[in-house]
Amino acid sequence: MIAVVKETATPDQLDHFVKWIEGRGFKTNVSQGDNETIVGIIGDTTQIDPFLLESMDIIERVQRVSEPFKKANRKFHPEDTIVDCGHGVKIGGGNFQVIAGPCSVEGENLLEIARAVKASGATLLRGGAYKPRTSPYSYQGMGEKGLDLLADAAGELDMPIVTEVMDPRDVQFFLDKGIDVMQIGARNAQNFPLLREVGKTQVPILLKRGLSETIDELLMGAEYIMSEGNPSVILCERGIRTFETRTRNTFDVNAIPVLHHLSHLPVVGDPSHATGYTRYVRSAAYAATAAGADGLEIEVHDNPSEAWSDGAQALTPTQFDDAMRRIRLIREAVTAPVGEAK
Ligand code: PEP
Ligand code: MN
Repeated sequence: MIAVVKETATPDQLDHFVKWIEGRGFKTNVSQGDNETIVGIIGDTTQIDPFLLESMDIIERVQRVSEPFKKANRKFHPEDTIVDCGHGVKIGGGNFQVIAGPCSVEGENLLEIARAVKASGATLLRGGAYKPRTSPYSYQGMGEKGLDLLADAAGELDMPIVTEVMDPRDVQFFLDKGIDVMQIGARNAQNFPLLREVGKTQVPILLKRGLSETIDELLMGAEYIMSEGNPSVILCERGIRTFETRTRNTFDVNAIPVLHHLSHLPVVGDPSHATGYTRYVRSAAYAATAAGADGLEIEVHDNPSEAWSDGAQALTPTQFDDAMRRIRLIREAVTAPVGEAK
């Protein structure tokens, strides 16, 4: 971390500041230039609140030179992490997987949708049993019955299941129900007690980016989980809130290569929540695949107009099948070795 000192600071004030920093166990390196004086602060600067330093009279600005996320950081773990989701399904480090299924578990049609998505190449089944709805009057999910239907489908089709946990008090219950991958939804991306609780398990966590979260904040969410001892985090770009109103969210395709650059964790793209409309979902899925995502999460429903949630963005099994054929071609194109440029 570096602190840029104001031109108006006296040598006494600078000396006082340096002693204050060193008194907290950090080493310092003062470099006096023609125009500005910079104090380099060496040590575990995650312990320092940069705003506190900036509030001091003699400090112009403070800049971090190393990221505050450590366990999620590629610098300290150069190889891609491969997350084992169970049922022989691994994601990351060259393993590409598609998670598909309805937004909400609704009943017996789950098995029908699961069979269809599996036949088209999906390797994980998704479905929400506890739904984080913006309105308390909207459908809230089937609850325990939904988890049981997911577990039955997983057993019958030998596919890991992904479902959202919203309450730290439910984590053990989800484990008892045999949930393979716990999803943390966008609305809970910074619910730190929940992140800590799933961090105490060894189950893979699909961590979605918050509605207005920066990439660094998403990585700090992963850090919360990993700091409790769970290394199996899958990051998910699902669109962010911008000024644009033509789509439900704005798909930040940039985030995919940026996250790969900064972190060793697998990165999944969710084109369904990113766009909000069936007509755009496939384009966004192709873009995410081309950008190097390790997987996709796509909502599929056998009868979208009757879906209990997110019908407007669901693909039918036929549309999903068409998408999967093209996704495979794009994946081949982006992973094929190429010769020397001519
Ligand atoms: C979901 O996956 O159905 C969901 C609610 O996603 P998000 O948290 O990204 O809105
Ligand atoms: Mn949904």
